[in-house]
Amino acid sequence: MAKMTANILRNFFAKRATRLYPIEVRPPFENSRGELYNDIDQCIFCGACALKCPSQCITVDKDQATWFCDPLACVYCGVCVEACPVHCLHQKTTYRPVCVTRETIFQKGVLKEKPKKKAKVVAEG
Ligand code: SF4
Ligand code: SF4
Repeated sequence: MAKMTANILRNFFAKRATRLYPIEVRPPFENSRGELYNDIDQCIFCGACALKCPSQCITVDKDQATWFCDPLACVYCGVCVEACPVHCLHQKTTYRPVCVTRETIFQKGVLKEKPKKKAKVVAEG
């Protein structure tokens, strides 16, 4: 009984184990594999990331200098980041906001329309 009472009192005065999300958001861990980001000005459009991607969610077009990623298919494994020979792919420690389109599109210079009628464009970078 004494042991149980002590336990109750300890839990009563202890700090809450849960957070009041989304008001209180936990800081990301240092090595979190979050949002994928391509520093497109460094990209040489070699296609190594697309070849290695287990989800086949990356499309690279060297002629048009475009790099596409389908964030709904990406599993954030980081294989593409390791495969990139110029180290222009990175994973942030934070997670991307809610998707409004299927593609994340990067292109050198000013962002251009993806050459598909139904595609909407999300600019990042
Ligand atoms: S591996 Fe790197 S340099 Fe090659 S296409 Fe992918 S992001 Fe660009
Ligand atoms: S993180 Fe993994 S699943 Fe996502 S694009 Fe890179 S290789 Fe593909």
